[in-house]
Amino acid sequence: MSNSNPVLEVHDLTVSYNKKPVLWGVDFSIDQGNLVGIIGPNGAGKSTLIKSIMGLVDKSAGFSKVFGRDLKQVRNKISYVPQRGSVDWDFPATVFDVVLMGTYGKLGLFKRPKRAHKEAANNAIKSVGLQGLEDRQIAQLSGGQQQRVFLARALAQNAELYFMDEPFAGVDAATEKTIIEILKNLKNQGKTVLVVHHDLQTVSEYFDQVILLNTRLVAFGDTDKTFTENNLQETYGGKLTLLSEIRNLMAKEEMPSREK
Ligand code: ADP
Repeated sequence: MSNSNPVLEVHDLTVSYNKKPVLWGVDFSIDQGNLVGIIGPNGAGKSTLIKSIMGLVDKSAGFSKVFGRDLKQVRNKISYVPQRGSVDWDFPATVFDVVLMGTYGKLGLFKRPKRAHKEAANNAIKSVGLQGLEDRQIAQLSGGQQQRVFLARALAQNAELYFMDEPFAGVDAATEKTIIEILKNLKNQGKTVLVVHHDLQTVSEYFDQVILLNTRLVAFGDTDKTFTENNLQETYGGKLTLLSEIRNLMAKEEMPSREK
């Protein structure tokens, strides 16, 4: 794996809340065109990792670089999709407004959106299957539809690097399928996508690489070599129900591969 020009480098990153470290000495780097899962138990620091790379929480030590530069110089090449629950969905805005706002990073300050921006927003809305709902207030959407709005907004932004915090949380199977197809499509266009993910059953199917995190970086690398029972045990510690789930999962993986 060549890391000569990584899209994202994280060096010795430590983040603390109230002096308690929640990330400790985390190091990894990601090359362009990978779809990467960030995996670990609740409270492992997954959201914090993304927020600290995005400059939303302070680092106690270490640093990160995006496209070899400081975040501020490349912010408009990065799209961040936060957890759905972290947003006030009662805010009065339509689906179209929220998606169009995704293009604002490319607009100069105080410039009005042009036809091209509106077109980008409409295309993004179509690609997530929300056409017909453009004028709907975002408060009046299902959880799956809200997640699709987030994704459309990120697509309209036309970024190079995407961070998505639990895009599959609380969505139905059809929405999950739409989202993963869009993420794979982004990756096939040479974009780089990092996704906080909880469902261990789908990790091998979805991700090229995994970051296994539990305050410290337990392991990082290609999914087939890194997503192993030993590494999962180390990541999830002594959580027994989960360990039996992992064993079932590994047993399943030894069966002949399913048709895709
Ligand atoms: P994950 O995304 O893996 O569930 P988080 O990054 O959200 O983990 O949280 C890591 C730890 O930091 C948890 O123990 C959480 O309670 C704590 N934490 C997260 N955000 C804050 C905050 N703003 N202030 C204090 N503690 C926080």
